[in-house]
Amino acid sequence: MSEVIPFLDFHAAVHELRDEVDRAIQRVLDSGWFILGRELEAFEAEFAEYCGVRFCAGVANGLDAIRLLLEAHGIGRGDEVLVPSHTFIATWIAVTQVGAKPVPVDVSLTDYNLDVEKLSSSLTSRTRAVIPVHLYGLPCDMDRINAFADEHGLIVIEDNAQAVGALYRNRRTGNLTRHGAAISFYPGKNLGAFGDAGAITTNDPDIHHKVKTLRNYGSPKKYHTEIVGINSRLDEIQAAVLRAKLPHLDEWNQRRCRIAHQYQVGLSDLPQISLPDACHSSNRMSVWHLYVIQTSQRDSLQQFLEKNNIQTLVHYPIPPHASGAYKDTDFPQSATENAGYLSRRVLSLPIGPHQSPHQTDYIIGKIREWSAEQV
Ligand SMILES: *Cc1c(COP(=O)(O)O)cnc(C)c1O
Repeated sequence: MSEVIPFLDFHAAVHELRDEVDRAIQRVLDSGWFILGRELEAFEAEFAEYCGVRFCAGVANGLDAIRLLLEAHGIGRGDEVLVPSHTFIATWIAVTQVGAKPVPVDVSLTDYNLDVEKLSSSLTSRTRAVIPVHLYGLPCDMDRINAFADEHGLIVIEDNAQAVGALYRNRRTGNLTRHGAAISFYPGKNLGAFGDAGAITTNDPDIHHKVKTLRNYGSPKKYHTEIVGINSRLDEIQAAVLRAKLPHLDEWNQRRCRIAHQYQVGLSDLPQISLPDACHSSNRMSVWHLYVIQTSQRDSLQQFLEKNNIQTLVHYPIPPHASGAYKDTDFPQSATENAGYLSRRVLSLPIGPHQSPHQTDYIIGKIREWSAEQV
């Protein structure tokens, strides 16, 4: 195959929905209204219904969604928030932005999500909340996390940036706590806008009211500013694009699942590689935002694939605790050990709704070729 296999094919995604998206954008231009209008209201209602949740508030991005939810729950200076040691750093930054301290909980090496057994070792008298991240598209074990949180009086905020549409005991992510969930519509996410966008879903009417106020300077009504908020709004054009894409989400997630299955079957016997936990037999259904394998010879495999025109990425090469942003904070080694280990071993293979079975076969073939050379 001489053409490059992209990590995620944005051109094909735009092409498939081009007419619907063009009409949606046209509608906004014709309306002459660009911020906090009908498209956003309609999208909020449609997305809430999709998640099976009572309320949805659009915001500017996923980071702000986490941050505003924390603020709405009154979390700030002096508080500690439990976060997974292995996640995209935005989960941690949101906590720091509200003045609280992110406290890592180490993750499981098989499903990559925070290890419920380890929650109690990171708990202190200052712990106020926990942010489970449904990493790579696989829901966390929410029954056990919610039970732990109830026992200790903690707020639970789902970071649902990577798992929109995934199921846990037949309920959608975004509807798995009493307190609310944050989502990102960054273009590379499973439901991606054509720019930055995010949202907060919740069943709590007070929290919904607070985040809607906070996203708009702290003004529930124009020019009636009651608290100091920020400007974090999901604009009409992005809302219209998301409305056009939402009806295709389930089908596009199913295509991702088929690719993951193809990888599972094609790579399961290779000695140097461990595959992600598929979890289909249990109560969790992944939407395969990423297909992440592990190998101790990660860089060698990545270079081999690169030479064969296959794009791969590493999610993530530097764990948050080891990044420059947190270099002045001490975190217990026992709570970050697996994050460090994974950062040296993980490799994300191409996956996306527009990857053909033929392309996936080619990738599998090349990985098998590399594997055979390793003896
Ligand atoms: C993408 C992502 C975010 C942040 O979303 P943005 O829209 O990029 O701000 C937060 N958490 C996780 C786990 C993410 O993957």
